[in-house]
Amino acid sequence: MIKHPITIYKVVAGIAFIILASVQFFLLFNMYRMEDEHYYAIEKAGMHDLYEPAINNDKLYPGAVQIIDKHVYKYIDTLEALYKQNRKGAFDTLRQVMCDSMFAELRAKSCGDSLIQAMKKQLGITDSLQYCLQIRNIDFAFEARKYIPIYTHGQKYPLINKAIQDSGGIRISGKLKNINSTNSVSGLTVSSPASHSYKMDFALHIDTYDRVWGVIKKMMPVFLLSLFSILSVLVIFYITFRNWLKQKKLADMQTDFINNITHEFHTPLSAIMVANKSLQNEKITGKKENVVSLTGVISRQADRLKKLIGQVIDISVGRMVKLNKTTLPLNDLLEDVLLDYRLNISDSSVQLNIEKHTVHDMVAVDVFYFTTMLQNIIDNGIKYNNSSPKMITVSTTNTDEYVLLSIKDNGIGMNDAITRRIFDKFYRAPNWKNEPIQGLGLGLHYARQCVEAHSWKLDVKSKPEEGSEFIIFIPCQQQ
Ligand code: ADP
Repeated sequence: MIKHPITIYKVVAGIAFIILASVQFFLLFNMYRMEDEHYYAIEKAGMHDLYEPAINNDKLYPGAVQIIDKHVYKYIDTLEALYKQNRKGAFDTLRQVMCDSMFAELRAKSCGDSLIQAMKKQLGITDSLQYCLQIRNIDFAFEARKYIPIYTHGQKYPLINKAIQDSGGIRISGKLKNINSTNSVSGLTVSSPASHSYKMDFALHIDTYDRVWGVIKKMMPVFLLSLFSILSVLVIFYITFRNWLKQKKLADMQTDFINNITHEFHTPLSAIMVANKSLQNEKITGKKENVVSLTGVISRQADRLKKLIGQVIDISVGRMVKLNKTTLPLNDLLEDVLLDYRLNISDSSVQLNIEKHTVHDMVAVDVFYFTTMLQNIIDNGIKYNNSSPKMITVSTTNTDEYVLLSIKDNGIGMNDAITRRIFDKFYRAPNWKNEPIQGLGLGLHYARQCVEAHSWKLDVKSKPEEGSEFIIFIPCQQQ
């Protein structure tokens, strides 16, 4: 047998849940990446188709080529001379000076904003977009197709304005910060095969302001379904686990019940058997008073057996048999029940009192069930009681609508956790001071069924070591 099945069950379920959640997360993450790659694909393709013809024979934006050419051809001969003389320091300084002034002018005269606006309009895009026009590399060819780097993205140049140097290149126009392959619209390299020419790489990136939210919105149905499935698994697991615990508890209780009932049935049966044996002994039966007392024992124990069997049957049927109510004064009924009860008390330390404070005490009640219920509650007041004397006070009072019947004892009392469960079928609190007190865990369950069948209300007040009080609210009947 596995020693801790619940712990193992919890651990396995926990691991399975973590795996399930991780797989879901992995799938969602991959889906996010796919959606992210294809996000705005149609719009970007449209932009691409419009941008490249718009800068045909030009670079970056319409009119930029004149600015670039002006700066390039102003410096190209000097740079060539420095390069060929191998004057690296001077070459480096001059190329940066050239780049810095060229970039500054390109930025100042940029018409990127209006170009993007016009393209948006043409494509019917109404979303707010951010863009970035970037120069990635510039190389000079002093001889045909032999390119010497002048500006290369990713490198830092101390003589070029720091604010415009991004890791991807020089920002000429636009405010888009996060530049990557998913928002690239166009990346062009323009060069000439002639000597004394240059080659330039530049790129256009466009993105929406709230790309992440846009992608998540597209994934929302899948995301919600995934969340729903995870929550369903959690809820179903919780319900199954709770039901399983309940079943287990019930099975444990039933085992206890069977152990108890065996004992409970045994006690009166043994008494009957002993009394019967004595009746077969002629020496004993010779005296008349012995016969009377022995048949008395048999009769009481048979009654007890009958009561036990009746209780078990009633409980196992699971409901009260149809009530046979009569309207009568509660105080009179209590007097009768307590009189009979006192006759059967063998414990001399028990004091059973009745206090009547009612003005109206007419109630509709099934006498048989009411009597058993009251006996069960009083039985407990005596059983779970270590005081001397054992005081049981049955009292009646009135409110506007109800007759309140209270059964109060000075017994061991109960804490809140026990009080909450005493009406459960088969429930028995742990033994008090290790003294086993016999019972079936059915007496109060029966009492509650009786109260419910009458549509009454029942309240319990109890404190450990101080005693318990059961209060039954019985609606008053017309006199
Ligand atoms: P049983 O007495 O056969 O165990 P009951 O249904 O009558 O079953 O009572 C359920 C449990 O409630 C008892 O086992 C006992 O622990 C607790 N209990 C009931 N009445 C009292 C009481 N008056 N004082 C203290 N504990 C009580």
